Amino acid sequence: MDKDWSEKNKEIQKFISKEATFKEAVQKLIEFRKELFQQITWIVEGYPEKAFFQMPFAGARGYHSKTLAYSIWHIFRIEDIVAHEMIAEDEQILFGEKYLEKIASPIITTGNELEGNDIAEFSEKLNVQELYLYAKAVKESTDQLILRLQYKDLKRKFDEDTRKKLIDSKCVSTDENAFWLIDYWCGKDVKGLIQMPFSRHWIMHIEAMQRIKNRLCKIARKGADPVAICGLSCNHCFLGEWCGGCRTDYNVCSFATCSEDGICPNVKCCIKKNIDGCYGCTALETCEKGFYVPTNDGANAAKAQSLYIRKYGKKEFLKVQTRLHDKYDFEKTQEILGQDYKEALRILEDN
Ligand code: SF4
Ligand code: SF4
Repeated sequence: MDKDWSEKNKEIQKFISKEATFKEAVQKLIEFRKELFQQITWIVEGYPEKAFFQMPFAGARGYHSKTLAYSIWHIFRIEDIVAHEMIAEDEQILFGEKYLEKIASPIITTGNELEGNDIAEFSEKLNVQELYLYAKAVKESTDQLILRLQYKDLKRKFDEDTRKKLIDSKCVSTDENAFWLIDYWCGKDVKGLIQMPFSRHWIMHIEAMQRIKNRLCKIARKGADPVAICGLSCNHCFLGEWCGGCRTDYNVCSFATCSEDGICPNVKCCIKKNIDGCYGCTALETCEKGFYVPTNDGANAAKAQSLYIRKYGKKEFLKVQTRLHDKYDFEKTQEILGQDYKEALRILEDN
């Protein structure tokens, strides 16, 4: 488990168990869920539709053997069922606001019963944008539920009526891979449900989603030109686990994701000019488009790298990048190359 997330989770579990620290635990849990949910937001906002039904670890043991779409569906179906059928005893979010129809899911269950290629086929049917809105609505509704809880509510247990209600809802498949969930949930008190479906379960599946997206980016990079259009090196980029590179469908570069159409202004301009990258442009030195906007503190470092490519070619450029990374510890090239593109070019040439 991610060390930071594991520590945060441990602290919340510890704090929630004592009345004196219960309210603090609730606040920490809400903050932690926000942090975890941001990971899902970045994935949904950054990746192409096809990413959500790929199974790059098909057949592996573990949550990463699923798809991105399945993971989102599964986390929030479980939370929705537990929060509304068991704790709040009101209507599930899936059935309000027509989420089920909008997502176009063929099932209302948690998905535990699906195996192998059925997971990919199921995932391909889902409208991911609507699924994301559903996940967000479930998260917000549960946050409110958690905030309303009192310390004494944590000890509340569930009886046979709750068990029957869960069975009657048909939201848990009768398949042996799924049905055990009902006994598992009913064996817990409210505190136990907070500790699993509302927190630890998120961590495990979001970590699996990270593994899936890292793998998808790696696959996307295979055979793609590692020199970014603006002059950066995708092979050396600190966003390598998030971004497949601006020459692939997995382009999660900030200037692409911030553009309305999802295409980086430098990429668009190079396509229009029919050139391979900004290094082939005569306006490079004075350009202020996209990555080169003066407010971007990496603009001049990128420009210097483009000038280097223009002078010495991509092969030499990738070599100098490797040498810089071997020599210095840095994430963004401007940390080494600074803010003046002429000086930055000199540093590159000196290395
Ligand atoms: S953020 Fe830019 S430089 Fe980094 S991998 Fe993506 S396209 Fe390449
Ligand atoms: S004008 Fe700017 S963004 Fe367009 S190709 Fe030239 S350097 Fe790149």
